[in-house]
Amino acid sequence: MSSTDKPRHRAKILVSDDDQIVRLLTRQCLEAEGMAVVEAADGPETLEVFVRERPDLVFLDVEMPGMTGLEVCERIRQLPQGENIPIMIVTGSDDRQSIDAGFQAGATQYKTKPVNWSLLGRDVQYMLRASNAFNALKRQEDRLRYLAYYDPLTSLPNRRSFNEQLNRILKRSQRRNSNAALMFIDLDHFKRINDSIGHGRGDRLLVEIAKRLTMELREDDAVNYLSEDDEDDDSISPEIARLGGDEFTVVLSDVEDTMHVERVASRILQSLSEPIALQSHNPVVTPSIGIAIYPHDGKDPDTLVRNADTAMYVAKAEGRACYRFYDEEMNSRAVEQLKMEEELRHALRNNELELRYQPQIDIHSGEVVSMEALVRWKHPERGMVSPLEFIPVAERTGQIIELGEWVMGEVARHCLYWDSLGIRPFRICVNISPLQFNQGDLPDWILRFLEHSQLAPDRLELELTESAIMTDAETNIAKLRALKEIGLHLAVDDFGTGYSSLSYLKRFPIDTLKIDQSFVADLHRADGAAIVDAIIALAKSLNLRVIAEGIEDENQLSYLVDKQADLLQGFYFSRPIYPEDVPGMLRQKFSWDFRETGTS
Ligand code: C2E
Ligand code: MG
Ligand code: MG
Repeated sequence: MSSTDKPRHRAKILVSDDDQIVRLLTRQCLEAEGMAVVEAADGPETLEVFVRERPDLVFLDVEMPGMTGLEVCERIRQLPQGENIPIMIVTGSDDRQSIDAGFQAGATQYKTKPVNWSLLGRDVQYMLRASNAFNALKRQEDRLRYLAYYDPLTSLPNRRSFNEQLNRILKRSQRRNSNAALMFIDLDHFKRINDSIGHGRGDRLLVEIAKRLTMELREDDAVNYLSEDDEDDDSISPEIARLGGDEFTVVLSDVEDTMHVERVASRILQSLSEPIALQSHNPVVTPSIGIAIYPHDGKDPDTLVRNADTAMYVAKAEGRACYRFYDEEMNSRAVEQLKMEEELRHALRNNELELRYQPQIDIHSGEVVSMEALVRWKHPERGMVSPLEFIPVAERTGQIIELGEWVMGEVARHCLYWDSLGIRPFRICVNISPLQFNQGDLPDWILRFLEHSQLAPDRLELELTESAIMTDAETNIAKLRALKEIGLHLAVDDFGTGYSSLSYLKRFPIDTLKIDQSFVADLHRADGAAIVDAIIALAKSLNLRVIAEGIEDENQLSYLVDKQADLLQGFYFSRPIYPEDVPGMLRQKFSWDFRETGTS
């Protein structure tokens, strides 16, 4: 065998045989192959040398006085380092029974005497190589298991482990009739701190927080958690996990009274709130902690988690840097709102928002000429949340600015994607909330955005609400003109629901009026129809395009076709669709066959 075939580190082989001559010959063969050899002359010595020397392979004679090789083999397999070690047993008998017995005892390979010395070295090399390959695979598997259950940044158990832990702990608490406490810990203003110190330092900060949590809880008097009837062998020390972002959890088992939980919570509070040294920065990061007690605040994991979460939001609402125990009154509407505010912050950070597009159809050609971008929130627990629920919250807290910028970015990204498919360009309508519009520098922002995204301005139509542009109309004229000069299309959304002054409407450089869907829904009533008629007439007289939204059935469609609205939008044609489905939608041509009466 050439020297290049030899393993890179010097393999150590334990040769166990009561026959000194065999040991000597074996040693010579193996040393000639570049391996190191340690020897043992009987069973007990083999085990002793095995533990001390940690060999890479064991060479084991079956027939030894006292303890047989088979017994030794079994014993080695029970040792922690012995589980996967290659063991070659050497037996004098080659009948099937003794070979089976060898494998049963845990042997990897067997050899019958007399040993063919010229082949021995090579056989051992092969076994070592197979064993190395196996160990590499095993390390990889361990790594995968680790990644599945642990957060690589802080090395704490992750959300998945947390779920399993909590399940296990609650089951055990039920069996033992004991209480458990679940703490939800969320860092206050983490995003702001993270943005200001940089994400690299933000990561280090999270690692430090994880360290402090672990230390604080390890120091906690472990005796508190030990009870006499510990029939389970799994650990009952406090369980810590990182659910993601700046959210951590702690589960305490066998809680005797709330005083104890309170003590732990205030210690966590204190320890996390100490300044953290990060090079030139020493940020102070306070936590808000929500606590729910099993079984009082929830008998199943879901309820307990929800209630600890709610308590955490109350802690935030009541000034942060504090802990709150859950109580039933917390489930009021106000708390839900606060909760949504916080969750929305996470949503923006964690990519939980998505866009859908709803087609707008030209009444003359039946073709899709534009699409309205509509935002969706894929909430990890609640599923799809309607923008009608969260847009008002985002508007109130100012998060709408960030959200609106995100929407624009997504639209640009999707346009790039559609362009790459070579489909015909179409207009995209983007909703702009009142706060976004009233922000001082919207035109500037849009200019920068267009420059950065390489998007042509005439591909965008901004949908502004009637009330947003009518409040302080005089100032808004300038802003609308600035937007118009950039080359954007402008539409007034939900038209008819606010108060419009005709004199201003005339002076606004707008392109489109969008009839609010509530009027379309009321078309079967005389007053609903009257409003729609009036809006269409107004639009025509001002030379504006008019679009009807919320069309759900044929009656509404035939009415609007009859009245010659320019564009049509509604579930009747299509619900909002995924960006991937847009190219297919563009190829569609809608048709209808209503006799146009031509009168109004
Ligand atoms: P909107 O701008 O008036 O959008 C039209 C809404 O009507 C959409 O609801 C759409 O899904 C829904 N709709 C369309 N056709 C029909 C129909 O035939 N029947 C019924 N019943 N509904 C129909 P969505 O997506 O839930 O959005 C609700 C509102 O949330 C929007 O009203 C808009 O004001 C706001 N919004 C949505 N996306 C954004 C956004 O990206 N930014 C801002 N600022 N607001 C947004
Ligand atoms: Mg709209
Ligand atoms: Mg609307």
